[in-house]
Amino acid sequence: MKAIVFEQHGPPEVLKFIDVPQPAIKPNEVLVRVKACALNHLDLWVRQGLPGVSFPLPHIPGSDVAGEIAQIGSDVTTVRVGQKVVLAPGVSCGRCPACVSGLDNRCRQFTNLGYMIDGGCAEFVRVPELNCLPYPENLSFEEAAAVPLVFQTAWHMLVGRAELQPGEDILILGAGSGVGTAAIQIANFFGARVIATAGSDEKLGKAKQLGADHLINHKSQKIRDEVRRITNKRGVDVVFEHVGTATWDDSIASLAPGGRLVTCGATTGFDAKIDLRFLFSRQLSLLGSYMGTKSELQTVLKLVAAGRLKPIVDRLFPLAEAAAAHAYLESGSQFGKVVLRV
Ligand SMILES: [Zn+2]
Repeated sequence: MKAIVFEQHGPPEVLKFIDVPQPAIKPNEVLVRVKACALNHLDLWVRQGLPGVSFPLPHIPGSDVAGEIAQIGSDVTTVRVGQKVVLAPGVSCGRCPACVSGLDNRCRQFTNLGYMIDGGCAEFVRVPELNCLPYPENLSFEEAAAVPLVFQTAWHMLVGRAELQPGEDILILGAGSGVGTAAIQIANFFGARVIATAGSDEKLGKAKQLGADHLINHKSQKIRDEVRRITNKRGVDVVFEHVGTATWDDSIASLAPGGRLVTCGATTGFDAKIDLRFLFSRQLSLLGSYMGTKSELQTVLKLVAAGRLKPIVDRLFPLAEAAAAHAYLESGSQFGKVVLRV
């Protein structure tokens, strides 16, 4: 089969479009014919390499897959050949206390397609039967592939961790990112007032169309000052963080007393400081969040199928042009998801 493979970490050019053997499936697995694979910032980290993490090489990246079942293992009973599926990106042991309690993203063996195991930037990918989720028929393959990782991450952050309440004020950083576009919609769905940031007025216009109530251009305005102005000096109840070093101080300073900061990433760096006096006297909560559970993703997909949440696709590339797609995502000029068509 054709696949995007890298044999060493580095810039987008390490991604090669080559022929590799089709994966062999185990009895509890299915082989999926990939129709579309969406990119995530995670793909950039995996390609570049992360300190202290040794990825198996050569490696096929790609976490977000929509496609059709091409083959099923001997123990598989819940899906059939030819069926359209969206794949849950998270693969876990399925047996530990975290897994059996439904918190599979806390499993010690948890990984994503395209992270420690081969992913979906290929004509075929193998996954456990458990990862096959019902296909939202109102979506194209490209749109369906744009759902899983960012929507389950944003849902787990806002609902699972920060417990966002109706009427609360929320600051969503990086409105143009995949998680940002998902978070704006989820926060709206729960009846929160959304303040969104982005680096261009064009992106802010799109954020407004998605449902953001207030907009901050972080290139020309100071985030904490604008939040203070918009909230009448009170600050926000929840800050949705994934940017890291560049925004951390503004994020902390934007919290109202009792506010919660939830973070799933650090795209600009992972060094951050906190003034402990500020943390305890204002009774703040700092919440880490990693991916999401399969059950949360099932909820998301129901809402997607009902048209209540929708994936935002910025641009499509053919699979063979994955390197160009990575470079485009790296440039940060997208609004929503960059998707590879297979
Ligand atoms: Zn487990």
